[in-house]
Amino acid sequence: MLIARHLVNDTPQIAAIIGDEIVNLSTPHQDMPEFLASGVEIDTLLTDDVRPLAEAKLLPPVGAPPAILAVGLNYRAHAEEGGREVPSTPVIFTKHHNCVIGPGDGIHIPRAAPDKVDYEGELAIVIGKRCRHVPKDRAREIIAGYTVMNDVSVRDWQRASPTMLMGKSWDTHGPIGPWMATSDQIDPHNLQLTTRVNDEIRQNSRTDDLIFDCFDIVEHLSTAFTLEAGTVIATGTPAGVGLYWDPPKMLKAGDEVSITIEGIGTLTNPVIAEPETRLI
Ligand code: MG
Repeated sequence: MLIARHLVNDTPQIAAIIGDEIVNLSTPHQDMPEFLASGVEIDTLLTDDVRPLAEAKLLPPVGAPPAILAVGLNYRAHAEEGGREVPSTPVIFTKHHNCVIGPGDGIHIPRAAPDKVDYEGELAIVIGKRCRHVPKDRAREIIAGYTVMNDVSVRDWQRASPTMLMGKSWDTHGPIGPWMATSDQIDPHNLQLTTRVNDEIRQNSRTDDLIFDCFDIVEHLSTAFTLEAGTVIATGTPAGVGLYWDPPKMLKAGDEVSITIEGIGTLTNPVIAEPETRLI
């Protein structure tokens, strides 16, 4: 099943996507972490409140993840295009939660770092229940589903410090969506992933090129710490990021990025100049 969030009377509502319709679910929860933690059977929550999907204002399927974890250099061809060794241990970093936006929302080209903004199309895991010490062969049990994430990266800031966080967490640099496909629906390790910028194909790979697969990643992370329901894990990007084209093809205002993953859907976001706002 495909599970989305959308706005109904300015309030977030969790819903299922069935064909070209969006079917509201009977739940008091407005965001995915609380909804998943409640442990309900999604099939039992379908209501008669059905609307055209085309008219829905979709929100990120997980609006406020307890954590956003990400894996670097996790596709062989991407490690090779950057001249990097294929890692023997997963390269883990975090993205700050403020970066989350939904489908259709604008990715900012920051005024303070306008020249090295890049896309990274990725398969993302959504954790379904609180867990620790999950062996690889039981990881399926705690994964609620999968979604599409754009791990937008500011390359000069990313490279300026080894933790990468300051290049990975700018406001709006974590688009997620358009919805979550429940884990019973897809094999995460046999999916086509295609990233387009303005209709030009930039990344085109299958998830079977992952070095550490989704279940390896869950085992590795949960060995160290508890994973909470709603945690999002971006599993790495394939070859074809803008930085490694010759010449480089960095994002600029006016571009549109679309990432399609087979069995899930297409996440599309416009790229816009950072608005003139200052909070202080
Ligand atoms: Mg990435």
